[in-house]
Order: sequence, then structure tokens, then C-alpha cells
Amino acid sequence: GRPARPHRDLVYPRGMAPYHHNHNPSIRVMQWNILAQALGEGKDGFIRCPLDALNWHERKYLILEEILTYRPDILCLQEVDHYYDTFQPIMASLGYHGSFLPKPWSPCLDVEQNNGPDGCALFYRRSRFSLQATAHLRLSAMMLPTNQVAIVQTLNCRMTGRWLCVAVTHLKARSGWERLRSAQGADLLQNLRSITSRGGSQTEAMGAVPLVVCGDFNAEPSEDVYRRFSSSPLGLNSAYKLLSSDGQTEPAYTTWKIRPSGESCSTLDYIWYTHDALSVESLLDIPTEEQIGPDRLPSYHYPSDHLSLLCDVSFREEPHRLM
Ligand code: NDP
Ligand code: CA
Repeated sequence: GRPARPHRDLVYPRGMAPYHHNHNPSIRVMQWNILAQALGEGKDGFIRCPLDALNWHERKYLILEEILTYRPDILCLQEVDHYYDTFQPIMASLGYHGSFLPKPWSPCLDVEQNNGPDGCALFYRRSRFSLQATAHLRLSAMMLPTNQVAIVQTLNCRMTGRWLCVAVTHLKARSGWERLRSAQGADLLQNLRSITSRGGSQTEAMGAVPLVVCGDFNAEPSEDVYRRFSSSPLGLNSAYKLLSSDGQTEPAYTTWKIRPSGESCSTLDYIWYTHDALSVESLLDIPTEEQIGPDRLPSYHYPSDHLSLLCDVSFREEPHRLM
């Protein structure tokens, strides 16, 4: 058989001790672009990836194994083109509620023998959360609808009674599209502001709802859309910065692949969280270059060209609830 896949450690930032808050258990969040099957086999051109490693009937078990290893409370996926025949039924049998939003003109549909459009999927564990509201957004840029989408759900934590708003998105890919990504990010932020702060009797009592935004932003930290998210009035921080020793630096890569055009190693995926309301207790570390191997991603060990991101977050005490 093949060697076991490299283990990834849970890292506790700022020397935080791995201790349990009995009354405030953490919420495990996973973000992952799982690589659409139609794109991986039909369009991406991963020339160093063995064809066998792209076979759906094997690759799907690697994806599910990775999800089940960590059993997240919240799972945010991009490039899902096997929702109805795979992820929805399997995740439902494991106690998850799922929501899927396909891209309006998925590039998967151009691939022969495709399995339908790819899109974003958001799952939460039913025993942990109840659903208050779902918004399916088609992102706009300068008022014009685009081919990119987002799902936003407002959840209530059954253990603490606290509210949490979770969003998943996949912004426009490729260089040359930085301004479109920035505009899509602005549209998403605007939607998130109205969803987390809107009035009404129920939500009035909620105050500003803490947010977790997961996505393949297709943008390096130097891009405008990243700056927009890190400086928005929503008070968001990027969780994976906390892996670095200074707490200020994103990982060196979240995706690494070799196409005919060359090697591409970049940081495109993020988990944003409201830093006033949530704290990051632990993060799953990023595989080393040696663990990823010379042929990069995807591979027999790593079923997508993107790495999964995973963190445990917990609600901070609310000052007005301390009295
Ligand atoms: P994007 O540019 O956002 O990318 C689509 C996918 O391609 C992403 O999943 C992306 O992966 C992947 N990708 C990124 N870089 C490369 C690369 N160098 N080589 C191969 N794949 C790559 O796509 P859009 O949503 O803007 O859709 C574009 C496509 O959609 C068009 O090519 C067309 O086929 C179709 N379309 C059809 C329309 C119609 O009228 N029929 C209208 C609009 C689009 P990652 O995010 O991991 O980088
Ligand atoms: Ca892709």
C-alpha cells in the first residue's frame, strides 16, 4: 500500500494551553476548496499529478476521510460538483445540515461527462446549531451580477445560546481579475453587514452577530480584497495569521500545483472571524514542502490542489453578560 498520509498537528497560538472550557466549548470550523471533479480531470492540467489520484471513486474517500478525521461543527466547501450524489447524503447521515449554491455558469458544464455545476456548500452539525436564516447570494461587482456566489447562514448555538453568522464564498480566479475580486469582496461585506446588524425584534436582542467567513478568495494577502476584509468595520481577523510566530503573517501557501504554465504556490484561502467576539484556540498546521512532495498537489495523499484549513474558535465573554 501507499505510505500513510502525513499527520497534521493542532497548534495552540500564543502558547495557549489546550484546556477545556466546560461551559464554553469551542466550535470547529473547516474551510476547503476540494477541487471540482470535472475541473481536476478536465481543465486544470495538473501535469505532475498521477491520473489515478484524480479518480473520483478513490478521491472522494480521501476527501471524506479528511473531513471525518476532524469532524468540524461547521464545514465550508468550494468547488463542490458532487453535492446531491455524495456530500449531501453522507453528511446528512452523519448529523449535518447542508446547503448548496451552484455557480450560475459553472466551468464544469464545459467539461464532457460533467456531474453538474460546481458551487459552494455549507454544512453545520445539527446537534450543535439550529438554523435561523439562510441567504444565497450571487455576488455583484459595480452593480453587475457575476459568476461567483456566497452562502450566509445565521445559526444559534444550542450549547451557549449565542448567535453565529457563517459565510462561504469562492471569488473569481486568475491574475488580471484583482479589481473584480475586490468588488465582489465589497459586495459580500456589505451583505454581511446588513445580515449581522439588521433590526427586528428577534435580531435586536442579538446585537452585532459574530461572524466566521470562509473562502477561496483567489487573492494573495497583498491584494485589495484582502485589505478590504482586514480593515472592514466588521472587525475581522484572518485566523491563520495566528500560526505565525508574530501572529501577523499568513502561511506561505494554501495551494501548490504544477500546470503546463508552471508552478503556482500561493495563499488564497482564509478563515475570517470577528476578533472582538471570538477567539481562536487552535489551528491545524500547514504541511511542509517535504510532506507535500516534489509533484505538489493534488496527490495520493492530498486529494485537492488546495489544503484544508481548520480552527477551533470560541465565544469571548460578552461584557454586558458578565454582570
Ligand atoms: P474562474 O476564473 O473563477 O475559475 C474557474 C475555475 O478555474 C476555478 O475553480 C479555478 O480554480 C480554476 N482555475 C484557476 N486558474 C486556472 C488555470 N490557470 N487553469 C485552469 N483552471 C484554473 O471562472 P469563472 O467562474 O469566471 O468562469 C469562467 C468559465 O465559466 C469560462 O471559462 C466559461 O467556461 C464559463 N462561463 C460560461 C458562460 C456562458 O455564458 N456559458 C458565462 C460565464 C462563464 P481556483 O479557484 O482553485 O483557482
Ligand atoms: Ca480550482
